[in-house]
Amino acid sequence: MDIRPHIFFFPFMGHGHTIPIIEMANQFASRGCRATIISTPANAPDAIKSIETRQLGLEIGVVLIKFPSKEVGLPEGCENTNSLTTKHMIQKFLVATTMLDQPLEQLLSEHRPTCLVASAFFPWANKIAAKYGIPRIVFHGTSSFALCAYASLFREQPHKKVSSDSEPFIIPNLPDEIKITRQQLQDHLKEESEVTDFARKVEESDLTSFGVIVNSYYELEAAYADHYRNFFGMKAWHIGPTFLCSQGKENKALRGKESSINEYECLKWLDAKKPNSVVYVCFGSVAKFDDAQLKEIAIGLEASGKQFIWVVKKDKHEEGKEEDWLPEGFEKRMEGNGLIITGWAPQLLILQHEAVGGFVTHCGWNSTLEGVCAGLPMVTWPVAAEQFYNEKLVTQILRIGVGVGVEKWARLTGDSVKREAIVKAVNKIMEGEEAEEMRSRAKALGVLAGEAVKEGGSSYTDLSALIEELKLQRAGSGSNRKDQLP
Ligand code: UDP
Repeated sequence: MDIRPHIFFFPFMGHGHTIPIIEMANQFASRGCRATIISTPANAPDAIKSIETRQLGLEIGVVLIKFPSKEVGLPEGCENTNSLTTKHMIQKFLVATTMLDQPLEQLLSEHRPTCLVASAFFPWANKIAAKYGIPRIVFHGTSSFALCAYASLFREQPHKKVSSDSEPFIIPNLPDEIKITRQQLQDHLKEESEVTDFARKVEESDLTSFGVIVNSYYELEAAYADHYRNFFGMKAWHIGPTFLCSQGKENKALRGKESSINEYECLKWLDAKKPNSVVYVCFGSVAKFDDAQLKEIAIGLEASGKQFIWVVKKDKHEEGKEEDWLPEGFEKRMEGNGLIITGWAPQLLILQHEAVGGFVTHCGWNSTLEGVCAGLPMVTWPVAAEQFYNEKLVTQILRIGVGVGVEKWARLTGDSVKREAIVKAVNKIMEGEEAEEMRSRAKALGVLAGEAVKEGGSSYTDLSALIEELKLQRAGSGSNRKDQLP
């Protein structure tokens, strides 16, 4: 009989969740567990190519469940947040995810794994797992800081006591004095809706779960890791950064979707640049700016005089034709100095290149963590989700970034930012004493991240503790397990 713990991983279908969860599966497998990832037909190819089994001989499986796109009125194959372009589509997508309960139950009853690690967006997974005596661990995909800030806002509702959307107020009960405005909060906190109901279920499932797994490391936000455990009473393991455990060049290039640029061409472009001379601009996998904002970014980048790589979530025009969302003649003027990647960029490879000296980011947690570990000062440009909290962590607690000045939370498209603000913020992270200070603080944090995932480091030890607990759990629940790998 195979006595290794068998962990099932069930990521929400967005790259902010699938990428770290697949890395986590690699991490568990490299520590002697069996890992199985639950995916859907359209997401599976990306999952399969990111799994390290071939190189390391790890035992990781992928099982498929059908995603009901058609049933909820989405186009066939629309199975990832990456392909959502309207609020309406997002709503349908969320409905589709609630229909995954039956297929999940089928899998758990068939395979009876030791544990289920599932994204927070599947609050109903607790009950299903409990039915088969399987502990469920929650993955939120964000920082301890954001988890604390959100929990405080959700429970205390301080934003209901301010007189205007733009009046700053203190987020209660945090270790530091952090101010935010109502217009920077998620919609469901500001007004009661179906999503608010859903958020209550998520909160409840956090509290009744086996615990929460966090893709962060203790040294980065110790006060908040402690606060999450001690003040909010959450059982949590900090086991990240997950990507530091998958460090092969090939693995870095294989994360998420297939790159829209040949990685080697991209690296060759960077090889020709001086250290810290290029700013990397990318807003994650979901945010899509309108043409007016894209033009403003282009003008801002050109006016900053800095070399750049800019990732734009758009389809590319035909070869030789000018992009109509760019100022006239922009591509020609920027030739050699600016590289635009329309589509998917090999972000981790780019960030870790020595020519890159700064990062303009939307503050998605994965990007933020990748920027920190690459030792980069950041321009923070939050768009939606919990990104405004991560911005506060970067600018006020870690002091490794400057805000571009976004005032409002705005799903998908973002609040508008003017060229002058872009120039000012980019220059602040790319030149001068302040930039150097931010860079050296970020570099020190990057070193600590590397130590955290090494044997004996804080994340390594937290993961060991979790695996030991799961082994005990497994021994305690004994005979109803099935041990065949799917
Ligand atoms: N990413 C990438 N190439 C892209 C866009 C994003 O590799 O062109 C990766 C990025 O490195 C990160 C993830 O996709 O690991 C995005 O997650 P994040 O939490 O930063 O933002 P989200 O996409 O969830 O808003």
